[in-house]
Amino acid sequence: MSALTERLNQSLLAMGVTVTQRQLSQFETYHQMLMDWNTRMDLTAVLEEEEMIDRHYVDSASLLTFDWIAPGTKAIDVGTGAGFPGVPLAILRPDIDMTLLDALGKRCAFLEAVVKALSLNCRVIHGRAEDAGRDAGLREAFGAVLSRAVAPMPVLLEYTLPLARVGGAVIAFKGPGVREEWDQGRRAAYLLGGKLSEPVEVTIPGRADWHHLLVRCQKEHPTPRPYPRKAGTPKKEPLG
Ligand code: SAM
Repeated sequence: MSALTERLNQSLLAMGVTVTQRQLSQFETYHQMLMDWNTRMDLTAVLEEEEMIDRHYVDSASLLTFDWIAPGTKAIDVGTGAGFPGVPLAILRPDIDMTLLDALGKRCAFLEAVVKALSLNCRVIHGRAEDAGRDAGLREAFGAVLSRAVAPMPVLLEYTLPLARVGGAVIAFKGPGVREEWDQGRRAAYLLGGKLSEPVEVTIPGRADWHHLLVRCQKEHPTPRPYPRKAGTPKKEPLG
């Protein structure tokens, strides 16, 4: 095992997430591609290997410590960037039917190459969340809508809730700052057909000082037709 797969294996084990040799070698390939493509485009600012493992791979996998994603779930990662959390989750849970969505074409080209090299059960869509939410094939089509580090809660919910089917959920990876977004987020969720649950803390092994939270918003009713508003409006005029 390389230093990378050794650390990743230990951390995943400590979190109770099982990983096979094949999955570890998929992570190794993903990491090499990320480092290589990062010399030509802006994919990650984190370059130190141990921090990359913890901040990107282990943090993405932390969702699997909760029993929130049923086998075979159709999921979408909105604003996936270099593939977080969607790619680590697709590696660890090949049963998930994963879609990776990002507005930046260059990042999507990287993701297409990763999906091909790793033979992942993933498709990549280059586009904006607001447009995806109005596309008949994508609106209310997903059991799980995932997102990390994309926007404050009220904006994020307008990007994500229209994509969730009734009975499905949005799951956002957040930091402690989410508390300041809470009241507005709750009102936005109500307008969009969702209900926010209290954030839960995740523990990243060896990083006791990191406060990472997962926020779940259950989709209870269909999203009213005016939402999402046209591209750019949710950020300019946040709901709530
Ligand atoms: N989720 C990744 C992570 O945690 O490392 C990337 C986070 S990066 C800070 C935000 C990403 O969201 C960028 O790749 C950006 O292109 C994408 N993004 C922002 N607004 C978006 C929108 N309205 N629709 C689709 N993608 C969007």
